[in-house]
Amino acid sequence: MKISWPHMGSLEFVLSSVFEELGLDYLLPPPSSQRTLELGARYGPEFACFPLKTTLGNFIEAIEAGADTLIMVAGRGPCRFGFYAETQRRILEEAGYEFRMVPLEFEPGKIPATLRKLRELKQGRSWSSLVRAIKFALSKAYLIDRLERQALHQRYLDRERGATTKALEKCYRMVWEAGSYDALRRVESEAFDLLRSVPGVERETVKVGIVGEFYLVLEPFFNLGVEEQLGNLGAYVERNIYLTDWLRPSGKNPVAGHHDRDSEEAAQPYLTHFVGGEGLHSVGGTVLYQRHGFDGVVHIMPFTCMPETIAKSILPQVSRDLGIPVLSLVIDEMTGKAGVATRLEAFVDLARFRRRAGERGLDYSLQPAF
Ligand code: SF4
Repeated sequence: MKISWPHMGSLEFVLSSVFEELGLDYLLPPPSSQRTLELGARYGPEFACFPLKTTLGNFIEAIEAGADTLIMVAGRGPCRFGFYAETQRRILEEAGYEFRMVPLEFEPGKIPATLRKLRELKQGRSWSSLVRAIKFALSKAYLIDRLERQALHQRYLDRERGATTKALEKCYRMVWEAGSYDALRRVESEAFDLLRSVPGVERETVKVGIVGEFYLVLEPFFNLGVEEQLGNLGAYVERNIYLTDWLRPSGKNPVAGHHDRDSEEAAQPYLTHFVGGEGLHSVGGTVLYQRHGFDGVVHIMPFTCMPETIAKSILPQVSRDLGIPVLSLVIDEMTGKAGVATRLEAFVDLARFRRRAGERGLDYSLQPAF
């Protein structure tokens, strides 16, 4: 059995760590590329969510590379993510690919079925070793999230463009290679030292927050490197979502530093209920960023995403009421990096201009429409 799954930011470190610990065979799909996008767009329905296409492209490339078992989270709910696994299974079978799709559902009623699937996937390893492997992988994921956060906060100070990104890539490898909790503790201090040793220069701070659909916020290839672009434009960046926020269903966001309740309450004047995905948190996160003195918010959403379309229709009002510029980026297979770069550049300039105006006590309430 050769198991694979689609890319999503640092998820590959978590899942591959679990399979390594258990000594099971797995295969990472080739790195996402233009070809991944073309395959997903060719086989995926035109109006499907963009992540359905990108993950479909990953699956096709994984099968071509030798994977025979594909895992995907599934479920039901007021958003289409729960149906990805079944939709993708049908598409891939009709296209003639041979594989087995294993949808993992974590709703209470589906737990027995999910445990049966996990029993097959662990191929005779004990449940206790599986739990140990998951806990260790989560520790790695938590460290990676905090390292990514450090990179978001410091990239704008880089003396040499790309230096923080290079250091972060080294950190990923160090975390990946740590084989025990002791080693991971050592790596933690070495990795933070490495990141903090990147030479920086004094720069004016302009603070930009990121909100949006979970997958696209976390997946740098398909969001066209928005975080890195913002950092290179001189912005201190924060996001309201990290991978471990999602892996801990308690609602506590250990890395982002808030509880889901906080952003739900902040969203109340604009949106009073869950609309699927992260729509509610995109609105609430924007309000929280404004309260924390951020100068602008970038909202990232896949084309045809239902919850984020709702958030996108509300955010202009939030922007007007609270005086914080919001840029919604709708991304699909036709979106070009240059177009996004131009919009981000104009947006960071605007946020910087508004900050300076505010520091000089000027009233700058006119809101350009983005
Ligand atoms: S959150 Fe949006 S993009 Fe993601 S599955 Fe739901 S509708 Fe599709």
